Amino acid sequence: MKDIFRIAIDGPSGAGKSTIAKAVASGLGIDYIDTGAMYRAVGYKMNREGVPFEECDELRTMLDSTDIDFVKGDIILDGETVNTLIRTPEVSMLASKCSALPMVREKLVDIQRGMGTRKSVIMDGRDIGTNVLKDAEYKIFLTASAEERARRRFLELQEKGTPQEYDAVLEDIKQRDHNDMTRELNPLAKADDAIELNTDGLGIDEVVQAVLDIIR
Ligand code: C5P
Repeated sequence: MKDIFRIAIDGPSGAGKSTIAKAVASGLGIDYIDTGAMYRAVGYKMNREGVPFEECDELRTMLDSTDIDFVKGDIILDGETVNTLIRTPEVSMLASKCSALPMVREKLVDIQRGMGTRKSVIMDGRDIGTNVLKDAEYKIFLTASAEERARRRFLELQEKGTPQEYDAVLEDIKQRDHNDMTRELNPLAKADDAIELNTDGLGIDEVVQAVLDIIR
């Protein structure tokens, strides 16, 4: 294994990317970068500041004065920890909407590439293997059926005490899949050199082990 290496994990919403990436990062002692959280932070801020969800001067000004970083696993937006604020279904949709805007992608991809040059990282998202870290040493594409992903999300929301109807969760997943795959800029896609892992019916430990086996 090289001294510095990058692992790219892509896949649709709810495939378990962040759970798996976090566990692999701690197993290997490297940093985990959740790029979805960065789009969430931008969508959250645009909404809070009333910036229109289109390419405009207001968005440019906002992005120029936006700072996003990860400190010890927390996502920091302009100095404020926003971990829980960005995890609502509403912000999921705002993230999906803002991620189609070229200005937003350009800004975030720039930051992400910077984070992936200095040290070993595992980065998850939609366009990591195809765009952000095209030359990553390891690329994994995690999938699961929409129904399985909705079921997991449904249980997670229940556990958090913010339940939603299963049908609404499934609809939300399908809508985000559609947005991610049909977006003009850097749509969700499996890189040609990525290894695909279907996680239907697999537990977290099994998937983590499968990823570690690929890397080792
Ligand atoms: O992964 P997560 O669901 O938190 O991501 C939120 C949204 O951000 C996704 O629905 C997707 O539209 C967008 N995203 C993206 N590119 C990434 C990561 C996330 O467009 N690399």
